[in-house]
Amino acid sequence: MAKRDYYEVLGLQKGASEQDIKRAFKRLAMKYHPDHNKEANAAEKFREINEAYQVLSDPQKRQLYDAHGFAGIDGSQAGGGNPFGGGGDFSDIFGDIFGDIFGGARARQQGPVEHPGRDLRAVVSITLEEAVRGVTRKLNVKTYVKCPQCHGQGSKDGSRLSICPQCNGSGQQIIRQGFMTMSQHCSACHGTGRSNPNPCPKCKGDGRVQSQKIVEVKIPAGVDNGDRLRLSGEGEAGLQGAPSGNLIVLIEVQDHDVFTRDGLDLHCVVPISFTTAVLGGTAEVPTIDGATLKLTIKPETQTGTILRIAGKGVKSYNSSQVGNLYCKVVVQTPTNLTEEQKDLLRKFEATFEKKNKEVNTSSTKAKNKDSDKAKEENKKEEKEGIFSKFFKDLKGDDK
Ligand SMILES: [Zn+2]
Ligand SMILES: [Zn+2]
Repeated sequence: MAKRDYYEVLGLQKGASEQDIKRAFKRLAMKYHPDHNKEANAAEKFREINEAYQVLSDPQKRQLYDAHGFAGIDGSQAGGGNPFGGGGDFSDIFGDIFGDIFGGARARQQGPVEHPGRDLRAVVSITLEEAVRGVTRKLNVKTYVKCPQCHGQGSKDGSRLSICPQCNGSGQQIIRQGFMTMSQHCSACHGTGRSNPNPCPKCKGDGRVQSQKIVEVKIPAGVDNGDRLRLSGEGEAGLQGAPSGNLIVLIEVQDHDVFTRDGLDLHCVVPISFTTAVLGGTAEVPTIDGATLKLTIKPETQTGTILRIAGKGVKSYNSSQVGNLYCKVVVQTPTNLTEEQKDLLRKFEATFEKKNKEVNTSSTKAKNKDSDKAKEENKKEEKEGIFSKFFKDLKGDDK
C-alpha cells in the first residue's frame, strides 16, 4: 500500500495551522482509536493518523517533509525507515493531546479508597478580654464518633473484613458509555474493596455512630476576630476506621464598650474636663487587663489629641510583639452650669475681646506708653482673678 500524504491523512491542506493539525488529529484519533473502533482497518488507520501527526506537529520534521516529502523524513532519522523516530510512544501524545479527555480518568486514584470523616466547623464567640488573655472553651459537638463497640472496625467480635466479591477488592467498577469506559467506586463496598459479612450491630458496619462529644478548645491569647483554629482529628470519624476530619473553629470577638482593636493595637476614648484640657493634669485610663493607668495631660491639650501608652495593647500569639494603647482625648463641654458660672464665662470671654481691642489700639496710644503700661498691669491682675475663680468653680463641678 502506497503511503498517503500526511496532510491528506489528516484531511488538511499544506498550509494548515498548528491548531488545525491538532484538532484534526484529535477528531480522527477519537474516531479510529482501536479501543473503541472495532472495524478491521481501525488500527492501521490510527497508526497512519498518528504517524502523520508525529511529523506535522513537529516544526522541524514538518519543514523537512514539506521540502522533501517522505524522503526528507526518512533521511533525517538515523535508523532510517521509521518515521516515528524515538518519539513514537502513543501514551506520550495522549498525555499531550488527550489530557483533558482520557487523562482525567486515568489520573484518578485507582484501587480501594478510604472514606475519611468530614471537617466540622464551629463558631466560638469570645469577649475582647478573653481574646487578649486566652481562654478555654468546651464545645458540645454532635457528630460521628468511632463506634465504641467495634472500635471503628465495623465488624462484629473483631472479625476481619473480607475482600469485596463484586470488585475483587479493587474498589473500582468499570462503566461503559458508548466507546468511553470509566471507572467509578464499586457500589457494593463504596470503593473500600472490603466486604463486611459480620457487621457490628451497634454501627451496622460503618465503624462510627452519631453522638455528642465535648471538645475542649484552647484559644490562645492574642487571637483576633476571624481567626481560625484547626483541631486536627476532632472532626467527623471516618468510615470503618478511616482517618477523622478536623474541627475548624472560627473565632468571633465581641465588640467592647471601651476598646476597639486594630491588629495588636487598642484604641479608646478618654474624656477630660475643660479645665484639665486648658491647665493640664491627669486622666484615668482603663487597660484591657483591668488595671487603671494615669495619663498625663499637658496644658492646652486640644480635643482629639491621641496619646500613646506603649505596650498596653495586645500581645501577639505567634511573635513577641505587643501592641500599644492609643487614647483619644475628648474635651467635655461643661453642662448644667449655674448662673454664676455662666456669668464668669461671659466675663472670661470678655477678657479676650478687651485683649483684642488693646492690640488694635496700642499703636495710636504709643504716646501714653507709661500710663498704659500701668493700666495693663492692673488689667492683668484683674484677669488672673477671674481665671482662678472661674476654674475653681468649674473644678468643683467636675465629677
Ligand atoms: Zn461498631
Ligand atoms: Zn467492591
